[in-house]
Amino acid sequence: YGPVRPTGTINLCAVDARGRVGGTTTTSGLAFKMPGRVGDSPLIGCGLFVDGEVGAAGATGRGESVIQIAGSHTIVELMRRGSGPADACLETLHRLVRATRVPDLLDERGRPRFNVTLYAVNLAGEVGSAALWSGSRYAVCRSGSAPQLQDCAFLYRKEA
Ligand code: ASP
Repeated sequence: YGPVRPTGTINLCAVDARGRVGGTTTTSGLAFKMPGRVGDSPLIGCGLFVDGEVGAAGATGRGESVIQIAGSHTIVELMRRGSGPADACLETLHRLVRATRVPDLLDERGRPRFNVTLYAVNLAGEVGSAALWSGSRYAVCRSGSAPQLQDCAFLYRKEA
């Protein structure tokens, strides 16, 4: 799978007191990409999806894997059916792992050799985030209080 490739993408999802929702995901995050590569960030439904009836979701990390399962759209659809934001992110990560079949992308225990982090907010202002691997955090900003860093839920605990 090659050397570590730093990423730098930021996803921002927001909802206001009236339930109006929006989101954005910066692009060009994956270092040393092939010329012409299109990551997940500019693809609606992959690195970002916003639905005024449900909420918003976004992704960072290995974009090809997020594209493969239309990750952000999947999260929003799970929330539409009643999942909380963190559960929707976790279920989407399970789907991503099942869809990862290239042997070089998996370790000897069938776990991805890369990371993906998913983020979501619903119209009630509930937030959640989950990553494949432990150790990720995300920022939560609420009107009237200081921003807070929170641990993302995760599928696999990183060994020391
Ligand atoms: N998702 C980005 C991409 O694949 C990388 C990143 O998160 O920084 O282009």
